[in-house]
Amino acid sequence: MTEALKAKLFHSLGVDGVYGRTGSYEAVVAGLTRCLDGLRPEAAEVFRFPPVMSRAQIERSGYLKSFPNLLGCMCALDQPEAQARVAAGTCTETADWTSLLSAGDLVLTPAACYPLYPILAARGGLSEGGVTCDVACECFRREPSTAMDRFQSFRMREFVRIGAAQDIVQFRQDWIARARALADDLGLPHKIDLASDPFFGRTGVLMANSQIEQALKFELLVPVISAERPTACMSFNYHQDHFGETWDLKTHDGALAHTGCVAFGMDRLAVALFATHGPDSTAWPLTLKARLDL
Ligand code: AMP
Ligand code: ZN
Repeated sequence: MTEALKAKLFHSLGVDGVYGRTGSYEAVVAGLTRCLDGLRPEAAEVFRFPPVMSRAQIERSGYLKSFPNLLGCMCALDQPEAQARVAAGTCTETADWTSLLSAGDLVLTPAACYPLYPILAARGGLSEGGVTCDVACECFRREPSTAMDRFQSFRMREFVRIGAAQDIVQFRQDWIARARALADDLGLPHKIDLASDPFFGRTGVLMANSQIEQALKFELLVPVISAERPTACMSFNYHQDHFGETWDLKTHDGALAHTGCVAFGMDRLAVALFATHGPDSTAWPLTLKARLDL
């Protein structure tokens, strides 16, 4: 069933977890996007990011300590030897042209909120009450899989709150309730659970345990492939002052800013809708089609 559905929604591009998308699939992603536009927090500032970001910024944010295995880096034929081959026109004749590549100054953005914090920090301290942002980005994570709910390239939308600790905790609480209401509207069976990020290596196990103990991450899980191992379609994250400290981002009274985000996996939500309601979106319940404006 999942293989048949996958074949209906996606075009193979020859690499696991990277797909061309069909029109009916994209119409559902557009419908979900409209739903989230309607739920955008009042006064949220909107940012739309490209699929690449500064390598220096991701290094500074500590991503490599936590998820080095997931990061993709842009490489190019930038170095003099490579340039010489390019100029001589022999580059394509090199059996292994990739040996001429060198790491560039870009990485593939792994989550939509990473590019936001340095922008806010560059503006100086936050005004009273903090700030709420609406961010979106096509993200990349190096986790190739044939599973229908795991991509290397996928879209992420987030509402991000930056301010005092108590504001962030409240924001996250409110959004867990709103996200559940949205999942109900969409007819998606779900549960909320404590979660941890897939931190890398042996110290990663300690980091994951500590994240769970401090209840820093929750996920909204939907049975997409199986009920036993439901799929995380949204996450609710409290980063404490990690990004405040990294970027020297301060609240109006000079304290380190705390941050949190609610992240919507647009592709996972779309796949969850098809898995739940069937492969033909024209046959979905009328109330659902109305909610998605299909
Ligand atoms: P995270 O930052 O890991 O909490 O990711 C935020 C959301 O992005 C998750 O709740 C998923 O819905 C989505 N997501 C994360 N990784 C993937 C992936 N490999 N494929 C598709 N969606 C993903
Ligand atoms: Zn985020």
